[in-house]
Amino acid sequence: MEDKDIKEEVYKCSKCALCKSVCPVYLATKNEMYLPRGRFIILNRFFNNHEKLSPQFIQDLDKCLYCNLCKDFCPSSIDSAEIFTHIKNKYKKRALILSFSFRYKIWLLFSGLKNIFSQKINIKKFKGTRDEKIIYFEGCINRYVNSDDKNAVLSILNTLGYKNIKINHLCCGYPLLTDGDIKSYKKNSEKIINSLDKDVDYIICSCDSCYSELQKILKNSENKAKLITIDELLSMHNYDISDEKVIYFKPLTRKGYGNINKNIKQLNPQLKCSLMENFLMYKNKSLSEMMREQMQLVQMNIEDNTIITTCQLTRIGLQSLLGDKKVLMYSEYINKK
Ligand code: SF4
Ligand code: SF4
Repeated sequence: MEDKDIKEEVYKCSKCALCKSVCPVYLATKNEMYLPRGRFIILNRFFNNHEKLSPQFIQDLDKCLYCNLCKDFCPSSIDSAEIFTHIKNKYKKRALILSFSFRYKIWLLFSGLKNIFSQKINIKKFKGTRDEKIIYFEGCINRYVNSDDKNAVLSILNTLGYKNIKINHLCCGYPLLTDGDIKSYKKNSEKIINSLDKDVDYIICSCDSCYSELQKILKNSENKAKLITIDELLSMHNYDISDEKVIYFKPLTRKGYGNINKNIKQLNPQLKCSLMENFLMYKNKSLSEMMREQMQLVQMNIEDNTIITTCQLTRIGLQSLLGDKKVLMYSEYINKK
């Protein structure tokens, strides 16, 4: 995106404030400067040479969660997150040590030490009868932090009779994108496209954040494999959850896809996804703590139910509030049944 394109997009904002009712960061902070509308007023002044962009303004762009809820509500369909990425890419001074993606990698590395011996399943031993070819996109958390979800997915695939499975170990690129590091993000996306065999039937994700990124990346590729979530695959096999003691915590990134039974209870949607809490922990501690306070409310709503979710960052955030046993990924829950 060039400056002139950003200027045009920013100019489309009618200041209607509809984004105010959905932006989770605004709802937690009540600060207009964290809202697309507030930011676009500053950007308008910048593009019309009335004002410079302050370092604080650029730094505060890191408080956007890239959830795209504002875009879904915006009458002009402005992709605020994309605009913020380009502004960061162009005007943010890069300090490698402090970058979010660098700190994220360090976190993965240290967390990974605990995970070395937890990857249990050997897919070479799968002897099912189904010929469909599958790529399972495991994502960084399964690879480096906790493989319980991946082990559950592989066990499910084995039970369903799939034998042609490959595991893709790459990162979806979400941390790079949110850092405004467009060059590395594009490079990573190309790496993903080149790593995916063209003759596969399904690419399966068990984490919604990975799914959302892959959906964007695959749009620009010739790969015709069907991208699906593990719950969509299970519903193709007529698996469903009908457990009264289960509550589904829908992540912010799950929009318009997936197939979790509509009849199972869902947690109050006002309690926004803990993706934010985790995400901001690395970007902005005070905001993260504010979100955490909001998340404490979750505890009042769960009683003796099990919480299931479909995003790894959401799972980690919820587990830090409620304990490891109380919160499971969808696949872990199904695999335990
Ligand atoms: S992408 Fe999400 S966090 Fe960012 S401005 Fe829009 S609603 Fe707010
Ligand atoms: S919803 Fe869209 S047009 Fe309305 S204030 Fe927000 S960014 Fe501007």
